[in-house]
Amino acid sequence: MNGSLIVVGLGPGDEALITPEVSAALAGATDVLGYAVYTARVTRRPGLTVHPSDNREELARARRAIMLAAEGRHVVVVSSGDPGVFAMASAIFEALEQMPGHLELDIRILPGITAMLAAAARAGAPLGHDFCAINLSDNLKPWELVEHRLRHAARGDFAMAFYNPRSKGRPHQFARVLEILREECEPARLVTFARAVRTPEESIVTVSLGETREEMADMRTLVIVGNSATRRVGRFVYSPRSAFTGVAE
Ligand code: SAH
Repeated sequence: MNGSLIVVGLGPGDEALITPEVSAALAGATDVLGYAVYTARVTRRPGLTVHPSDNREELARARRAIMLAAEGRHVVVVSSGDPGVFAMASAIFEALEQMPGHLELDIRILPGITAMLAAAARAGAPLGHDFCAINLSDNLKPWELVEHRLRHAARGDFAMAFYNPRSKGRPHQFARVLEILREECEPARLVTFARAVRTPEESIVTVSLGETREEMADMRTLVIVGNSATRRVGRFVYSPRSAFTGVAE
């Protein structure tokens, strides 16, 4: 029995942003596993078993996916956006490390369009120069590390994309993030709040750092902080490809 395990990204929301190879993997699946909000996006059909689970159960889900594939099933694990960005691909490998008997399984990771790229495209090109992505959740790392990386990214003049910026369980941390940014960056620094990008509830708002308020972000928001050269042109925001104005490319 030759089972398979394919880890896919469903993109930010719009079906048009699901890649053809991800659609083909879903069409060939016997089992789909994932956080219930994401499995809800998968079309039901005869022959397909959908296994929704809670979003805190990533490792258990990963183990179950590996076991099902080992039994000969064609398993697809779904994440939103890209599966390698703060998502299931790492959880699968973490589980696999503890299950070395399954290292020879047919495992593939199929990329998707991550929220950061969908958000940047809506705003213009704020990530057109060097940038970094930071997950602001301290579920899986200490909060001190979040602050440390944030401060150093700001000092390095990287543009930044923040995932999981603010949840009900830790409402004050995003206020602290804005405080650190105000210490490290000038008040005119452009900050884009991209909420529910590529869904019917989409909203994209760009303000200066001085105008930011913590309520502008929630868990459906991707926040992009520009670098010191990021600027507006008409309704767009972009980071020039050279960070030094006047330097030839
Ligand atoms: N693997 C996903 C990220 C999972 S972490 C990806 O590559 O996009 C979940 C976080 O992603 C959310 O808290 C939010 O910050 C961001 N996110 C996911 N989908 C989004 C969307 N449609 N619009 C804005 N942000 C989104």
